[in-house]
Amino acid sequence: MTVLAAASPTRKKSAMRAARTPVQYDGPVIEFPAVPAGERIVVSASSFVAYEQCPEKANARYRQEYGPPSRPAFVGGLAHRIFARHLQDGPIGADQFNQVCREEIGSAPALNFRMGELGLKPSQLSGIVSETQALYDRFVRFPTEGFRGAEVSVEVEPQPDVVLQGRVDAVFDEDGRPRLVDWKTGRIFEADDQLGFYALLWVLDRTELPVAVEAVSVKTGERHRTEPSEADLQALVTRIAAMVTALRAGWDSGEAFARVGGPWCTYCPLLDGCSEGRAAATVMAQG
Ligand code: SF4
Repeated sequence: MTVLAAASPTRKKSAMRAARTPVQYDGPVIEFPAVPAGERIVVSASSFVAYEQCPEKANARYRQEYGPPSRPAFVGGLAHRIFARHLQDGPIGADQFNQVCREEIGSAPALNFRMGELGLKPSQLSGIVSETQALYDRFVRFPTEGFRGAEVSVEVEPQPDVVLQGRVDAVFDEDGRPRLVDWKTGRIFEADDQLGFYALLWVLDRTELPVAVEAVSVKTGERHRTEPSEADLQALVTRIAAMVTALRAGWDSGEAFARVGGPWCTYCPLLDGCSEGRAAATVMAQG
């Protein structure tokens, strides 16, 4: 593992991370359906989306089998830290940017770990910093009015040993209600389930229905906005409960999960040994 110094001389103190404002709530109450007892399970937006794409791919995540590390994912992870820092502490000067990137990598165990996986040495970071700077230069053009908090962690346990958790990139106030934003550093693809998951988490934990949840591509400027209703979230929570039930049943019985090929196979750790995935990859290669 490559470890960079975590010292942060350029960083100001921030009180915005995980900002939380209790409110009187008279909105929808979403009920998580009862599920059979079983192994403790933590559901994130990523694991839910993976399950909806291909149950066996989600199962691989729960076995801690992940796809190979990638440079774009590393740059994206670093850029998210920089965006949060900008929102919390203010603009980052060009003369500080390199140092700030190194501080963020040094203070984020996940980034440090991925640096090691990618075989990157601190002396090889200049290209990573340049790519992150290009994203940041686009990011600073986005309006920040109504900013409430960045990298807001949300976690609930709506049924015994069923934990839903996530981290919202940014929360803004819109007409007195929260608007949740998920920054993307590439194109936006099929974001509805992920955005719905964040809205559901917010309702369950903060008892406050977001006015909207948005995916915003910093790279392309695309914006995908959804305004979830109570009925939407109740339908979503029913699908999450079905996932929990199916995964627990499969883990108990040892039966294989369904494999569903699609574009997501590209980043699946099981691709090499999966006939469904290889067939999907062949079709995609043929355009
Ligand atoms: S390669 Fe594709 S079909 Fe096979 S397990 Fe992975 S996501 Fe599913």
